[in-house]
Amino acid sequence: MACAWDFQFRVLLLGDSGVGKTSLLRWYTDGEFSSSTGQTVGVDFCSRVEEPEDGVKVRLQFWDTAGQERYRAVTRSYYRNASAVILLFDLTARPSFDNILNWYQEVIERTRPEPLIYLLLGTKSDLRAQRTVTREEGQTLADTLKAPYLETSARTGSNITAALSLLCRELLKMARQEKTQGERWKGRCTTVPEAQHTQKRTCAC
Ligand code: GDP
Ligand code: MG
Repeated sequence: MACAWDFQFRVLLLGDSGVGKTSLLRWYTDGEFSSSTGQTVGVDFCSRVEEPEDGVKVRLQFWDTAGQERYRAVTRSYYRNASAVILLFDLTARPSFDNILNWYQEVIERTRPEPLIYLLLGTKSDLRAQRTVTREEGQTLADTLKAPYLETSARTGSNITAALSLLCRELLKMARQEKTQGERWKGRCTTVPEAQHTQKRTCAC
């Protein structure tokens, strides 16, 4: 499918195996939920173009770990040049919540340059009766990470668009600030050269 965009950002998804990373992405990019996402080997890519402001198209390019997170063996190249990191835990699986700080630590240690933005998501909010992490606990952790916090469900689609739209707006805001500051910006975002702005660039994606 051909599309046009003005900004492009690389967004990483991290969290324990089974928290619903692939399901969330699938819902967001394909609009569907499947009870079996399957295990892919290596890294999965997908993207979606958002229009956070009239006439400004932002392409979010998602990197989804495909199995390596099970062994905490995510390769270093995965972390390179990420603009944003989405940390996910399963609201019904307490250990995945306890592990968020480990994932965060790993990002800090391995990502060069450091990502601009974090987002914390508690997933599977549809499974209310099985919940083991409270909203307050999620919010407190998010405050520690200085990240927005939302609870999502890939089964119902609840809050997924809201979460990614928020991320997109924050990235755009940051990008505009960073661009004026120079260094930290480099390699983190692809922009269409000014000259091509009037005649939108078309890319294959
Ligand atoms: P990943 O390993 O983090 O990529 O997790 P998956 O996306 O493969 O999901 C693991 C399992 O959780 C699958 O059986 C999904 O169907 C299920 N799952 C994912 N998201 C949700 C959700 O929001 N609600 C419910 N009820 N199940 C979910
Ligand atoms: Mg997966």
